[in-house]
Amino acid sequence: MIIVRNNKRADQFRDFLREDFAKPRVLSPVEVHVSELLAPRKAYWTRLLGERVTDEMIGLFATGEAFHLMLQKVAGVEYAEHEVKHCGVVGHCDLRPPDNEDTEIKTSRKWSVPADPEPRYVDQITAYMAMGDTPIGHILVLYITAGRRWDGKKASTMELVSWQIDLDAEERAEIRNQLVAEKDRLLNAVKVKNPKLVDLCPEWQCASIYKGEVQSVCPFYENECKPEGRYPIQVLAGDLDKQSERKPARAKSKRTQTPAQGGRTQTPRAQTLR
Ligand code: SF4
Repeated sequence: MIIVRNNKRADQFRDFLREDFAKPRVLSPVEVHVSELLAPRKAYWTRLLGERVTDEMIGLFATGEAFHLMLQKVAGVEYAEHEVKHCGVVGHCDLRPPDNEDTEIKTSRKWSVPADPEPRYVDQITAYMAMGDTPIGHILVLYITAGRRWDGKKASTMELVSWQIDLDAEERAEIRNQLVAEKDRLLNAVKVKNPKLVDLCPEWQCASIYKGEVQSVCPFYENECKPEGRYPIQVLAGDLDKQSERKPARAKSKRTQTPAQGGRTQTPRAQTLR
């Protein structure tokens, strides 16, 4: 038997993935997707210059996509990718089961499970809840390397964690208004070709910096965007240290109250997806 490492085959599959993820999306000139509003400056550049994908992005997308598909399959594919629309804003919720409680599926490589969900997860699910006018939603996160230790003395385990979000009618209406205003700003910025008319993306999207080393950079960072206050990379590296203090971008009200902040820790009614 001869066993050799075959990089050619690995490259071939990396190319398949790159091709798939870089497929140009058909972007409507009058409609905007929620995912664009979560990273508005990147959406601006993508609309003007086309999709750009780096190898690091492929690695992240591939894992997330695989777990997404698996969880959607076990929950029932008929409930997957539920479309919500509101005044020119479009979204696709990962799962809208018969109980109408939207569920957004996420994959995380964090080694420990945080007390609260990531602010960007909250922004995404609350956008879908507001657009679909549903009062209860869930963020379901698969921590694929939970419990891993630096010294390698403990094997990691997989943990599935769910947070429930409740939004009252007033909060849903407020978020719908914000989404429409953000959509109008993005379309106008593209029309007049002025990136500064839209907000910057969340900082973690600009670059990934680990122990002072730059792991990956947004494909628009260096030549086009040069994001104000985060450029050059040394400035961003200093600022990224403060990320843990950040809150969801659209969250200003009680809707951000999480179990760790004194919010409800139990769901008001038992629920199953099927
Ligand atoms: S550099 Fe940062 S702000 Fe600019 S498009 Fe990329 S992620 Fe968005």
